[in-house]
Amino acid sequence: MIVCKFGGTSVGDADAIARAATIIDARRARQPVVVVSALGGATNQLLQIAEQAAKGQLIGALRAVEGLRDRHLAETQRLLTGDDADEVCTELSAMFDELAALAEALRTLGDLTPRSLDAIASLGEQLSSVLVVAAFRQHGLPAEHLDARQVMITDANFTRAEPQTDAIGEAAQRLVMPLVRAGKIPVMGGFIGSSAGGGVTTTLGRGGSDYSASLVGAALQAEAIEIWTDVDGMLTADPRVVEGARLIERIGFEEASELASFGAKVLHPNTIAPAVMRGIPVWVLNSRRPEGTGTLIAFDAPRRSVTAIAGKSGVTLVKVRSPRMLLTEGFMRTLFEVFARHATSVDVVATSEVSVSVTIDDTTNLEALVVDLRALGDVTIERNRGIVSVVGNGLADGGAAMSQALAAIGDLHVHMLSLSSSRINLTVVVDGEQVAPAMRRLHDAFFAVRAR
Ligand code: ADP
Ligand code: ASP
Ligand code: MG
Repeated sequence: MIVCKFGGTSVGDADAIARAATIIDARRARQPVVVVSALGGATNQLLQIAEQAAKGQLIGALRAVEGLRDRHLAETQRLLTGDDADEVCTELSAMFDELAALAEALRTLGDLTPRSLDAIASLGEQLSSVLVVAAFRQHGLPAEHLDARQVMITDANFTRAEPQTDAIGEAAQRLVMPLVRAGKIPVMGGFIGSSAGGGVTTTLGRGGSDYSASLVGAALQAEAIEIWTDVDGMLTADPRVVEGARLIERIGFEEASELASFGAKVLHPNTIAPAVMRGIPVWVLNSRRPEGTGTLIAFDAPRRSVTAIAGKSGVTLVKVRSPRMLLTEGFMRTLFEVFARHATSVDVVATSEVSVSVTIDDTTNLEALVVDLRALGDVTIERNRGIVSVVGNGLADGGAAMSQALAAIGDLHVHMLSLSSSRINLTVVVDGEQVAPAMRRLHDAFFAVRAR
Protein backbone atom coordinates (compact mmCIF):
# COMPACT_ATOMS: atom_id res chain seq x y z
CA MET A 1 0.00 0.00 0.00
CA ILE A 2 1.18 3.53 -0.77
CA VAL A 3 -0.12 6.98 0.12
CA CYS A 4 -0.20 9.55 -2.71
CA LYS A 5 -0.73 13.20 -1.83
CA PHE A 6 -1.57 15.77 -4.50
CA GLY A 7 -0.90 19.41 -3.64
CA GLY A 8 -2.93 22.46 -4.70
CA THR A 9 -1.49 22.89 -8.18
CA SER A 10 -1.63 19.14 -8.77
CA VAL A 11 -5.44 19.30 -8.40
CA GLY A 12 -5.72 22.96 -9.46
CA ASP A 13 -7.97 22.43 -12.48
CA ALA A 14 -9.59 19.75 -14.63
CA ASP A 15 -6.36 18.99 -16.52
CA ALA A 16 -4.36 18.60 -13.32
CA ILE A 17 -7.02 16.33 -11.80
CA ALA A 18 -7.00 14.23 -14.98
CA ARG A 19 -3.19 13.94 -14.67
CA ALA A 20 -3.59 12.83 -11.05
CA ALA A 21 -6.05 10.14 -12.19
CA THR A 22 -3.50 8.85 -14.72
CA ILE A 23 -0.81 8.77 -12.03
CA ILE A 24 -3.05 6.76 -9.70
CA ASP A 25 -4.11 4.46 -12.51
CA ALA A 26 -0.46 3.57 -13.08
CA ARG A 27 -0.18 2.70 -9.37
CA ARG A 28 -3.31 0.61 -8.91
CA ALA A 29 -1.40 -2.57 -8.19
CA ARG A 30 0.31 -0.86 -5.27
CA GLN A 31 -3.00 -0.12 -3.52
CA PRO A 32 -2.90 3.67 -3.39
CA VAL A 33 -4.61 5.74 -0.72
CA VAL A 34 -5.05 9.31 -1.96
CA VAL A 35 -4.80 12.55 0.02
CA VAL A 36 -5.68 15.80 -1.75
CA SER A 37 -5.20 19.49 -1.05
CA ALA A 38 -7.71 22.17 -1.91
CA LEU A 39 -7.64 23.49 -5.48
CA GLY A 40 -4.56 25.76 -5.73
CA GLY A 41 -5.24 29.13 -4.12
CA ALA A 42 -8.61 28.09 -2.66
CA THR A 43 -7.44 28.06 0.98
CA ASN A 44 -6.07 31.61 0.69
CA GLN A 45 -9.36 32.76 -0.80
CA LEU A 46 -11.39 31.05 1.91
CA LEU A 47 -9.35 32.74 4.63
CA GLN A 48 -9.82 36.09 2.90
CA ILE A 49 -13.57 35.51 2.75
CA ALA A 50 -13.60 34.85 6.50
CA GLU A 51 -11.60 37.99 7.24
CA GLN A 52 -13.69 40.19 4.97
CA ALA A 53 -16.96 38.93 6.42
CA ALA A 54 -15.80 39.45 10.01
CA LYS A 55 -14.80 43.01 9.09
CA GLY A 56 -18.35 43.64 7.90
CA GLN A 57 -17.53 43.58 4.18
CA LEU A 58 -20.22 41.05 3.40
CA ILE A 59 -20.83 41.99 -0.21
CA GLY A 60 -17.18 41.53 -1.11
CA ALA A 61 -17.05 38.26 0.83
CA LEU A 62 -20.14 36.89 -0.92
CA ARG A 63 -18.79 37.93 -4.29
CA ALA A 64 -15.64 35.94 -3.54
CA VAL A 65 -17.79 32.95 -2.49
CA GLU A 66 -19.50 33.07 -5.88
CA GLY A 67 -16.16 33.36 -7.68
CA LEU A 68 -14.90 30.26 -5.92
CA ARG A 69 -18.19 28.46 -6.58
CA ASP A 70 -17.98 29.27 -10.30
CA ARG A 71 -14.42 27.98 -10.47
CA HIS A 72 -15.30 24.66 -8.80
CA LEU A 73 -18.43 24.16 -10.90
CA ALA A 74 -16.61 25.05 -14.13
CA GLU A 75 -13.87 22.49 -13.44
CA THR A 76 -16.56 19.93 -12.55
CA GLN A 77 -18.28 20.54 -15.89
CA ARG A 78 -14.97 20.10 -17.68
CA LEU A 79 -14.26 16.82 -15.91
CA LEU A 80 -17.65 15.14 -15.77
CA THR A 81 -20.59 14.62 -18.04
CA GLY A 82 -24.36 14.20 -17.68
CA ASP A 83 -25.87 13.11 -14.38
CA ASP A 84 -22.48 12.75 -12.74
CA ALA A 85 -21.73 16.42 -13.36
CA ASP A 86 -25.17 17.49 -12.08
CA GLU A 87 -24.85 15.40 -8.95
CA VAL A 88 -21.40 16.71 -8.05
CA CYS A 89 -22.37 20.29 -8.86
CA THR A 90 -25.34 19.98 -6.48
CA GLU A 91 -23.13 18.57 -3.74
CA LEU A 92 -20.46 21.25 -4.15
CA SER A 93 -23.06 23.99 -4.39
CA ALA A 94 -24.55 22.93 -1.06
CA MET A 95 -21.12 23.45 0.50
CA PHE A 96 -20.90 26.92 -1.03
CA ASP A 97 -24.35 27.72 0.42
CA GLU A 98 -22.95 26.68 3.78
CA LEU A 99 -19.93 28.93 3.20
CA ALA A 100 -22.16 31.89 2.37
CA ALA A 101 -24.15 31.24 5.55
CA LEU A 102 -20.93 31.09 7.57
CA ALA A 103 -19.82 34.40 6.05
CA GLU A 104 -23.12 36.00 7.05
CA ALA A 105 -22.81 34.66 10.56
CA LEU A 106 -19.29 36.09 10.80
CA ARG A 107 -20.52 39.48 9.63
CA THR A 108 -23.11 39.44 12.41
CA LEU A 109 -20.61 38.31 15.06
CA GLY A 110 -17.90 40.65 13.80
CA ASP A 111 -15.34 38.38 15.40
CA LEU A 112 -13.13 35.76 13.81
CA THR A 113 -12.20 32.92 16.14
CA PRO A 114 -9.65 30.22 15.27
CA ARG A 115 -12.53 27.76 15.39
CA SER A 116 -14.57 29.58 12.76
CA LEU A 117 -11.44 30.11 10.64
CA ASP A 118 -10.98 26.33 10.58
CA ALA A 119 -14.65 25.74 9.72
CA ILE A 120 -14.13 27.91 6.66
CA ALA A 121 -10.57 26.93 5.69
CA SER A 122 -11.50 23.23 5.81
CA LEU A 123 -14.04 23.66 3.02
CA GLY A 124 -11.28 23.75 0.39
CA GLU A 125 -10.32 20.13 1.02
CA GLN A 126 -13.93 19.06 1.56
CA LEU A 127 -14.72 20.40 -1.91
CA SER A 128 -11.65 19.12 -3.73
CA SER A 129 -11.93 15.60 -2.32
CA VAL A 130 -15.52 15.25 -3.56
CA LEU A 131 -14.54 16.50 -7.01
CA VAL A 132 -11.45 14.29 -7.25
CA VAL A 133 -13.41 11.15 -6.31
CA ALA A 134 -15.95 11.81 -9.05
CA ALA A 135 -13.20 12.50 -11.59
CA PHE A 136 -11.32 9.34 -10.64
CA ARG A 137 -14.48 7.29 -11.08
CA GLN A 138 -15.09 8.82 -14.46
CA HIS A 139 -11.57 7.68 -15.27
CA GLY A 140 -12.56 4.13 -14.34
CA LEU A 141 -10.88 4.09 -10.93
CA PRO A 142 -12.78 2.54 -7.99
CA ALA A 143 -12.41 5.67 -5.83
CA GLU A 144 -14.29 6.04 -2.52
CA HIS A 145 -14.66 9.30 -0.65
CA LEU A 146 -13.60 9.30 2.97
CA ASP A 147 -14.36 12.24 5.27
CA ALA A 148 -10.87 13.11 6.53
CA ARG A 149 -12.38 14.36 9.77
CA GLN A 150 -13.28 10.82 10.76
CA VAL A 151 -9.68 9.71 10.40
CA MET A 152 -7.54 12.71 11.31
CA ILE A 153 -8.34 13.02 15.01
CA THR A 154 -6.65 16.01 16.66
CA ASP A 155 -6.74 18.13 19.80
CA ALA A 156 -8.87 21.28 19.79
CA ASN A 157 -6.03 23.69 19.08
CA PHE A 158 -7.73 25.29 16.10
CA THR A 159 -5.64 26.45 13.11
CA ARG A 160 -2.67 24.34 14.27
CA ALA A 161 -4.23 21.24 15.72
CA GLU A 162 -2.03 18.46 17.06
CA PRO A 163 -2.83 15.05 15.58
CA GLN A 164 -3.51 12.22 18.02
CA THR A 165 -1.62 9.36 16.49
CA ASP A 166 -3.22 6.51 18.44
CA ALA A 167 -6.73 7.63 17.53
CA ILE A 168 -5.65 8.17 13.90
CA GLY A 169 -4.09 4.70 13.81
CA GLU A 170 -7.30 3.15 15.10
CA ALA A 171 -9.51 5.13 12.69
CA ALA A 172 -7.28 4.38 9.71
CA GLN A 173 -7.40 0.65 10.45
CA ARG A 174 -11.19 0.78 10.91
CA LEU A 175 -12.12 3.07 8.00
CA VAL A 176 -9.35 3.07 5.40
CA MET A 177 -8.07 -0.50 5.56
CA PRO A 178 -11.36 -2.25 4.66
CA LEU A 179 -11.69 -0.08 1.55
CA VAL A 180 -8.17 -0.94 0.43
CA ARG A 181 -8.79 -4.64 1.11
CA ALA A 182 -11.94 -4.44 -1.00
CA GLY A 183 -9.89 -3.12 -3.92
CA LYS A 184 -11.12 0.46 -3.58
CA ILE A 185 -9.06 3.63 -3.76
CA PRO A 186 -9.84 5.78 -0.71
CA VAL A 187 -9.61 9.53 -1.35
CA MET A 188 -9.56 12.02 1.50
CA GLY A 189 -8.79 15.69 2.01
CA GLY A 190 -5.49 16.61 3.63
CA PHE A 191 -4.99 19.44 6.13
CA ILE A 192 -8.31 18.95 7.93
CA GLY A 193 -9.31 16.93 10.97
CA SER A 194 -11.66 16.98 13.89
CA SER A 195 -11.24 17.35 17.62
CA ALA A 196 -11.23 14.20 19.73
CA GLY A 197 -14.47 13.89 21.66
CA GLY A 198 -16.02 17.08 20.31
CA GLY A 199 -15.82 16.24 16.61
CA VAL A 200 -15.37 19.90 15.74
CA THR A 201 -13.52 20.62 12.47
CA THR A 202 -9.83 21.53 12.90
CA THR A 203 -6.86 22.11 10.58
CA LEU A 204 -3.21 21.11 10.94
CA GLY A 205 -1.80 24.50 9.89
CA ARG A 206 -0.97 25.89 6.46
CA GLY A 207 0.56 23.42 4.07
CA GLY A 208 -0.62 20.61 6.35
CA SER A 209 -1.74 18.17 3.64
CA ASP A 210 1.79 16.75 3.45
CA TYR A 211 1.57 16.07 7.17
CA SER A 212 -1.85 14.39 6.75
CA ALA A 213 -0.34 12.11 4.11
CA SER A 214 2.55 11.03 6.30
CA LEU A 215 0.27 10.49 9.31
CA VAL A 216 -2.02 8.28 7.22
CA GLY A 217 1.01 6.51 5.74
CA ALA A 218 2.37 5.78 9.20
CA ALA A 219 -1.05 4.68 10.48
CA LEU A 220 -1.38 2.21 7.60
CA GLN A 221 2.26 1.10 7.62
CA ALA A 222 2.39 2.10 3.97
CA GLU A 223 5.40 1.01 1.94
CA ALA A 224 5.90 4.55 0.56
CA ILE A 225 4.51 8.05 0.79
CA GLU A 226 4.44 10.06 -2.45
CA ILE A 227 4.14 13.84 -2.35
CA TRP A 228 3.06 15.00 -5.81
CA THR A 229 3.76 18.69 -6.37
CA ASP A 230 4.71 21.29 -9.00
CA VAL A 231 8.50 20.88 -9.00
CA ASP A 232 10.73 17.92 -9.91
CA GLY A 233 11.43 17.05 -6.29
CA MET A 234 13.39 18.59 -3.45
CA LEU A 235 15.84 20.97 -5.06
CA THR A 236 19.10 22.49 -3.88
CA ALA A 237 17.11 25.70 -3.16
CA ASP A 238 13.66 27.16 -3.76
CA PRO A 239 13.58 27.62 -7.57
CA ARG A 240 11.42 30.71 -7.09
CA VAL A 241 14.33 32.36 -5.31
CA VAL A 242 17.41 30.78 -6.83
CA GLU A 243 17.87 30.29 -10.53
CA GLY A 244 19.54 27.03 -11.43
CA ALA A 245 18.42 25.07 -8.36
CA ARG A 246 19.06 21.39 -8.98
CA LEU A 247 17.25 18.18 -8.19
CA ILE A 248 18.40 16.22 -5.14
CA GLU A 249 17.90 12.59 -6.06
CA ARG A 250 18.27 11.17 -2.60
CA ILE A 251 18.33 12.88 0.77
CA GLY A 252 18.34 11.74 4.41
CA PHE A 253 15.26 12.12 6.62
CA GLU A 254 17.13 14.41 8.96
CA GLU A 255 18.38 16.72 6.22
CA ALA A 256 14.93 16.89 4.60
CA SER A 257 13.38 17.68 7.94
CA GLU A 258 15.86 20.50 8.60
CA LEU A 259 15.23 21.96 5.15
CA ALA A 260 11.46 21.85 5.62
CA SER A 261 11.72 23.48 9.04
CA PHE A 262 13.99 26.21 7.74
CA GLY A 263 11.89 27.29 4.79
CA ALA A 264 11.74 24.64 2.04
CA LYS A 265 8.00 24.92 1.56
CA VAL A 266 7.89 21.86 -0.67
CA LEU A 267 7.31 19.81 2.50
CA HIS A 268 5.40 20.74 5.64
CA PRO A 269 7.98 20.62 8.48
CA ASN A 270 6.13 17.87 10.35
CA THR A 271 5.93 15.51 7.39
CA ILE A 272 9.12 13.62 8.11
CA ALA A 273 8.57 12.58 11.75
CA PRO A 274 5.76 10.01 11.23
CA ALA A 275 7.61 8.53 8.24
CA VAL A 276 10.91 8.21 10.12
CA MET A 277 9.26 6.46 13.03
CA ARG A 278 8.07 3.69 10.74
CA GLY A 279 10.98 3.89 8.31
CA ILE A 280 8.68 4.71 5.40
CA PRO A 281 10.43 6.29 2.39
CA VAL A 282 8.97 9.59 1.20
CA TRP A 283 9.10 10.53 -2.48
CA VAL A 284 8.66 14.07 -3.80
CA LEU A 285 7.48 14.00 -7.40
CA ASN A 286 6.31 16.35 -10.13
CA SER A 287 2.69 15.74 -11.18
CA ARG A 288 3.34 17.55 -14.46
CA ARG A 289 6.26 15.25 -15.22
CA PRO A 290 5.41 11.92 -13.61
CA GLU A 291 8.14 10.16 -15.58
CA GLY A 292 10.80 12.10 -13.60
CA THR A 293 12.79 10.32 -10.91
CA GLY A 294 11.83 12.77 -8.14
CA THR A 295 13.53 12.87 -4.75
CA LEU A 296 13.75 9.91 -2.42
CA ILE A 297 13.86 10.78 1.29
CA ALA A 298 15.15 7.83 3.28
CA PHE A 299 17.52 6.78 6.08
CA ASP A 300 20.60 6.37 3.96
CA ALA A 301 21.67 9.12 1.66
CA PRO A 302 24.97 10.12 0.13
CA ARG A 303 27.23 12.05 2.46
CA ARG A 304 27.61 15.59 1.15
CA SER A 305 29.04 18.66 2.78
CA VAL A 306 26.15 20.73 1.44
CA THR A 307 22.90 19.21 0.19
CA ALA A 308 20.74 22.33 -0.10
CA ILE A 309 20.10 25.89 1.01
CA ALA A 310 16.82 27.01 2.62
CA GLY A 311 15.60 30.34 3.84
CA LYS A 312 12.60 32.17 5.20
CA SER A 313 11.75 35.72 6.13
CA GLY A 314 9.19 37.01 8.62
CA VAL A 315 11.20 35.71 11.55
CA THR A 316 11.37 37.49 14.92
CA LEU A 317 14.53 37.56 17.00
CA VAL A 318 14.09 37.63 20.78
CA LYS A 319 17.12 38.50 22.92
CA VAL A 320 17.22 38.13 26.67
CA ARG A 321 20.16 39.73 28.42
CA SER A 322 20.77 38.77 31.99
CA PRO A 323 24.36 39.15 33.17
CA ARG A 324 23.53 38.13 36.70
CA MET A 325 21.50 35.06 36.07
CA LEU A 326 22.68 33.50 32.89
CA LEU A 327 25.14 31.13 34.41
CA THR A 328 22.99 30.22 37.37
CA GLU A 329 21.58 26.75 37.45
CA GLY A 330 18.17 26.30 35.92
CA PHE A 331 18.11 29.64 34.09
CA MET A 332 17.76 28.08 30.65
CA ARG A 333 15.03 25.81 31.85
CA THR A 334 13.09 28.74 33.27
CA LEU A 335 13.61 30.68 30.06
CA PHE A 336 12.35 27.91 27.78
CA GLU A 337 9.45 27.21 30.11
CA VAL A 338 8.26 30.73 29.37
CA PHE A 339 8.23 29.96 25.64
CA ALA A 340 6.43 26.67 26.27
CA ARG A 341 3.85 28.36 28.49
CA HIS A 342 3.03 30.75 25.66
CA ALA A 343 2.88 27.96 23.08
CA THR A 344 5.66 29.59 21.06
CA SER A 345 8.13 27.27 19.44
CA VAL A 346 11.72 28.31 19.10
CA ASP A 347 13.71 27.69 15.90
CA VAL A 348 17.29 28.85 16.33
CA VAL A 349 19.14 29.43 19.60
CA ALA A 350 22.47 31.07 20.36
CA THR A 351 23.92 31.94 23.74
CA SER A 352 26.76 34.04 25.04
CA GLU A 353 28.00 34.69 28.56
CA VAL A 354 25.37 37.30 29.14
CA SER A 355 22.56 36.77 26.69
CA VAL A 356 20.38 34.23 24.96
CA SER A 357 19.01 34.87 21.47
CA VAL A 358 16.25 32.82 19.90
CA THR A 359 14.19 33.12 16.74
CA ILE A 360 10.47 32.50 16.58
CA ASP A 361 8.05 32.27 13.65
CA ASP A 362 4.75 32.67 15.38
CA THR A 363 4.24 35.97 17.19
CA THR A 364 0.60 35.39 18.20
CA ASN A 365 1.50 35.38 21.89
CA LEU A 366 4.53 37.67 21.73
CA GLU A 367 3.20 40.42 24.01
CA ALA A 368 2.40 38.08 26.88
CA LEU A 369 5.66 36.21 26.28
CA VAL A 370 7.70 39.39 26.59
CA VAL A 371 5.98 40.34 29.85
CA ASP A 372 7.09 37.03 31.38
CA LEU A 373 10.59 37.19 29.86
CA ARG A 374 11.14 40.61 31.43
CA ALA A 375 11.14 38.90 34.80
CA LEU A 376 14.34 37.15 33.67
CA GLY A 377 16.31 40.02 32.13
CA ASP A 378 16.32 42.83 29.57
CA VAL A 379 14.36 41.82 26.50
CA THR A 380 14.90 43.10 22.95
CA ILE A 381 12.66 42.19 20.04
CA GLU A 382 13.87 42.46 16.45
CA ARG A 383 11.18 41.93 13.85
CA ASN A 384 11.53 41.39 10.09
CA ARG A 385 14.53 39.17 10.37
CA GLY A 386 15.09 36.11 8.23
CA ILE A 387 17.03 32.90 8.47
CA VAL A 388 19.13 31.17 5.89
CA SER A 389 20.31 27.61 6.41
CA VAL A 390 22.99 25.53 4.79
CA VAL A 391 22.13 21.86 5.25
CA GLY A 392 24.33 18.86 4.62
CA ASN A 393 24.93 15.61 6.50
CA GLY A 394 28.68 16.07 6.00
CA LEU A 395 28.70 19.79 6.71
CA ALA A 396 31.00 19.47 9.69
CA ASP A 397 33.44 16.98 8.09
CA GLY A 398 36.57 19.10 7.97
CA GLY A 399 36.07 22.83 8.10
CA ALA A 400 36.03 23.73 4.44
CA ALA A 401 32.28 23.92 3.84
CA MET A 402 31.69 26.02 6.91
CA SER A 403 34.33 28.57 6.07
CA GLN A 404 33.18 28.63 2.45
CA ALA A 405 29.65 29.37 3.66
CA LEU A 406 30.78 32.21 5.86
CA ALA A 407 32.91 33.62 3.08
CA ALA A 408 29.92 33.51 0.71
CA ILE A 409 27.77 35.46 3.13
CA GLY A 410 30.50 38.08 2.97
CA ASP A 411 29.46 41.52 4.06
CA LEU A 412 25.77 40.78 4.71
CA HIS A 413 24.83 41.79 8.23
CA VAL A 414 24.60 38.62 10.33
CA HIS A 415 22.59 38.98 13.54
CA MET A 416 23.11 35.50 14.85
CA LEU A 417 24.75 32.26 13.85
CA SER A 418 24.08 28.72 14.95
CA LEU A 419 25.35 25.26 14.11
CA SER A 420 22.76 22.62 15.00
CA SER A 421 23.81 20.02 17.53
CA SER A 422 23.54 17.32 14.86
CA ARG A 423 26.01 19.46 12.90
CA ILE A 424 24.08 19.18 9.67
CA ASN A 425 22.63 22.68 9.66
CA LEU A 426 24.44 26.00 9.74
CA THR A 427 21.92 28.80 10.19
CA VAL A 428 22.45 32.53 10.00
CA VAL A 429 19.95 35.19 10.98
CA VAL A 430 19.95 38.16 8.60
CA ASP A 431 17.67 41.10 7.78
CA GLY A 432 14.43 39.85 6.21
CA GLU A 433 15.18 41.44 2.86
CA GLN A 434 18.62 39.81 2.76
CA VAL A 435 17.26 36.28 2.77
CA ALA A 436 17.02 35.95 -1.02
CA PRO A 437 20.45 37.51 -1.75
CA ALA A 438 22.04 35.37 0.97
CA MET A 439 20.45 32.23 -0.48
CA ARG A 440 21.71 33.13 -3.95
CA ARG A 441 25.24 33.78 -2.72
CA LEU A 442 25.34 30.50 -0.82
CA HIS A 443 23.83 28.53 -3.68
CA ASP A 444 26.29 30.07 -6.05
CA ALA A 445 29.19 29.18 -3.78
CA PHE A 446 28.23 25.52 -3.53
CA PHE A 447 26.31 24.67 -6.68
CA ALA A 448 27.19 27.03 -9.51
CA VAL A 449 28.61 25.32 -12.56
CA ARG A 450 31.65 27.31 -13.44
CA ALA A 451 33.00 27.64 -16.93
CA ARG A 452 36.61 26.56 -17.06
P1 ADP B 1 1.86 21.94 -3.04
O1 ADP B 1 0.70 22.81 -3.36
O2 ADP B 1 2.08 20.84 -4.03
O3 ADP B 1 1.87 21.47 -1.62
P2 ADP B 1 3.79 23.97 -2.35
O4 ADP B 1 3.64 25.28 -3.05
O5 ADP B 1 3.34 23.87 -0.95
O6 ADP B 1 3.13 22.86 -3.28
O7 ADP B 1 5.33 23.52 -2.41
C1 ADP B 1 6.00 23.48 -3.64
C2 ADP B 1 6.86 24.72 -3.80
O8 ADP B 1 7.86 24.70 -2.79
C3 ADP B 1 7.64 24.80 -5.07
O9 ADP B 1 6.88 25.34 -6.12
C4 ADP B 1 8.84 25.67 -4.69
O10 ADP B 1 8.67 27.01 -5.09
C5 ADP B 1 8.86 25.62 -3.18
N1 ADP B 1 10.15 25.22 -2.62
C6 ADP B 1 10.80 25.85 -1.63
N2 ADP B 1 11.97 25.26 -1.36
C7 ADP B 1 12.08 24.21 -2.21
C8 ADP B 1 13.07 23.21 -2.43
N3 ADP B 1 14.19 23.15 -1.70
N4 ADP B 1 12.84 22.29 -3.38
C9 ADP B 1 11.72 22.31 -4.11
N5 ADP B 1 10.75 23.23 -3.96
C10 ADP B 1 10.92 24.18 -3.02
N1 ASP C 1 -4.82 23.71 1.40
C1 ASP C 1 -3.98 23.90 2.57
C2 ASP C 1 -3.13 25.14 2.44
O1 ASP C 1 -3.16 25.79 1.39
C3 ASP C 1 -3.16 22.71 2.91
C4 ASP C 1 -2.17 22.25 1.85
O2 ASP C 1 -2.33 22.61 0.69
O3 ASP C 1 -1.26 21.52 2.21
O4 ASP C 1 -2.48 25.52 3.37
MG1 MG D 1 2.39 22.39 0.21
